[in-house]
Amino acid sequence: MSLRALCVSVVKKITIQMKHLEKNIMKQLLVISIIGLISLSINAQTDTIWHHKKCTVVITYDDAYDQQLDNAIPVLDSLGLKATFYITAFSNSIQTRLNDWKKIATHGHELGNHTLFHPCNGGKGREWVKPEYDLSRYTVQRMIDETRMTNLFLKALDGKTKRTFAFTCGDMKIGDSSFINAMKDDFVAARAVRNEMHKINEIDLYNVDCYVVNGETGAQMIEWVKKAVETNSLLVVLFHGVNGGNALNVSLQAHSQFLHFLKQNEKDIWIAPMIDVAEYIKNYQSGKNK
Ligand SMILES: [Zn+2]
Repeated sequence: MSLRALCVSVVKKITIQMKHLEKNIMKQLLVISIIGLISLSINAQTDTIWHHKKCTVVITYDDAYDQQLDNAIPVLDSLGLKATFYITAFSNSIQTRLNDWKKIATHGHELGNHTLFHPCNGGKGREWVKPEYDLSRYTVQRMIDETRMTNLFLKALDGKTKRTFAFTCGDMKIGDSSFINAMKDDFVAARAVRNEMHKINEIDLYNVDCYVVNGETGAQMIEWVKKAVETNSLLVVLFHGVNGGNALNVSLQAHSQFLHFLKQNEKDIWIAPMIDVAEYIKNYQSGKNK
């Protein structure tokens, strides 16, 4: 091969390699652009949910205890946070401090329905369940009637026609029969007791999961919130006793620390009563506020 022929051949090879290299670069640029577009679209999707915040936290208190009025309400009201109180209508605190409960509704808290007598399925491990309020001895119709009576009672307190329900002891059935199916027109949502959190499209409004507080520290509860922020989820927290009232208790310090953390991070967290959040989820899932 002549020197000239050799040069031509080398130049040809280099040109082919450069073209190949260009193709690869173009391919890589294309892949990067596609990834960029996908992540932009995911961000756009997460930006529009939960009122443009990263997650939602619903604070709930069950059973209606004096300690909730005396220890939880002052902290909530001082921070301007709104919660849901799942009321058992025939509880001691309702009987003795009815006006105080009526008053908290005027502060923007939801009075949720936690039945008339708090019936739970009795049996092994549930020896404390009184025979007259043993859910397994109820008919479905009795459960529906008592729950509707509680709605009527709560309406007399707060004037509201829409509210949410919380299953007592997490019991969703009498024998094999679900009773909430017959009450879907009575409630926008129903809260259960399973410790999980979900994204907006994965939430079952008639089986909303929640984290039950049982002696956790403020730091432990704050970890739940951080997980909700990271996963764009709904976190529902369930308190019973607040420095007393129930064995499922939280200390004043832990309760206050948790609520202050929520307030300090309000730019990332939508904090609202269950009724507001449930209606938002319902609209979102039906495509109305996407
Ligand atoms: Zn309860």
